[in-house]
Amino acid sequence: ERLDEADRALIARREKVLGPAYRLFYEKPLHLVRGEGVFLYDTSGDRYLDAYNNVASVGHCHPRVVEAITRQTAVLNTHTRYLHEGIIDYAETLTATFPDALSQVMFTCTGSEANDLAVRIARFVTGGTGIIATELAYHGLTSAVAEFSPSLGESVTLGPHVRTVPAPDSYRQTPEDTMEKFGRDVRAAIADLKRHGIKPAMLITDTIFSSDGIFEGPKGFLKPAVDAIHEAGGLFVADEVQPGFGRTGEAMWGFERHGVAPDMVTIGKPMGNGYPMAGIVLRPDIIAEFGPRARYFNTFGGNPIAAAAGRAVLDVIREEGLQQNALDVGRYLMDGLKSLSDRYHAIGDVRGCGLFIGVEIVADPAAKTADAALTTRIVNGLRERRVLISASGPRANVLKIRPPLVFSRENADMLLDALRGVLQTL
Ligand code: PMP
Repeated sequence: ERLDEADRALIARREKVLGPAYRLFYEKPLHLVRGEGVFLYDTSGDRYLDAYNNVASVGHCHPRVVEAITRQTAVLNTHTRYLHEGIIDYAETLTATFPDALSQVMFTCTGSEANDLAVRIARFVTGGTGIIATELAYHGLTSAVAEFSPSLGESVTLGPHVRTVPAPDSYRQTPEDTMEKFGRDVRAAIADLKRHGIKPAMLITDTIFSSDGIFEGPKGFLKPAVDAIHEAGGLFVADEVQPGFGRTGEAMWGFERHGVAPDMVTIGKPMGNGYPMAGIVLRPDIIAEFGPRARYFNTFGGNPIAAAAGRAVLDVIREEGLQQNALDVGRYLMDGLKSLSDRYHAIGDVRGCGLFIGVEIVADPAAKTADAALTTRIVNGLRERRVLISASGPRANVLKIRPPLVFSRENADMLLDALRGVLQTL
């Protein structure tokens, strides 16, 4: 399939006006015009199965969310400096999904802002500046957050106050190592910060380690690391921007699977199903002193429309049983992927939790040698078969499967058939 004339022209206009910082997915870029549930439609009316989009988590253009946004848009849109029932209702409903201790929320518009604010709060509370993150973490785009987002590669310099630790690689390490190494590495990072006269402020992890290659377990391995940062006087920030809102199936929030108690939790992406909203959920004592001095105001964060969108998302997750669906369909899909791995040696590992699945593509399963080129061919091959996924991980060889939570078994079969088809041609 070749690009048509109209799309080539649009790509040229795009490059001219958006400049060189932007990327397009796929060797043959997609030109989408409409979405509904798990499906996306292009200019020719062709239908694609979306197995990647974790923002439209309750499904593209879910009627409940669309209605909530349109209704509130027609009535009032102000900000958090006026009394508004909807904002408070939403904040109460949201915090009720967290363990009791995490009972307050501050609203932002993006996950980056939420993590940026978390840094400010952590530094204020601890009096430290040191930050520990994983080796290939992505936490956002502000200057402060980019300094501990090594997945941005050579485009950023990690801060002198930043230390990185390897993610728990359950594929290449023994289970004992995966269980214990992370805690040991965090302790070593804390010691190194101290040696350089830097007091630790926080440990931050994405609790499914998405950009590090998707590592869901073993359950509990986070605990020693969290204990270590607490002993050192620092805070633990769980970045739930990707695993949050029921995606892992086993829990509403990824950190709950590990039995740890974060001091702050940052959330975003699926929070408004596409309406830009994010925030920090935290313990009241964490902002007891910072709060009154912060003069916190976010023009758009937590506005009445955002609150309406967010409330609709939470209602849909509960009423449609989407956390349970993520668990059921996720297991079904993982089983299907594991049977494919028996037949196709390119699949070295299938891992994940709920509807957050990583499939490691290797040239040699015994040596576990990553095959990034083959991974790219699979991602593009699936796109030709109208199934959308992407890839991640330090070796760019982990198929990242992260569909909307309304994904059904039938949808899983579509994905599995398409993947089988692609693997057969390779
Ligand atoms: N944290 C994680 C784990 C993310 O994946 C992202 C976005 N990819 C962010 C933070 C930043 O969120 P945003 O793009 O909304 O600023």
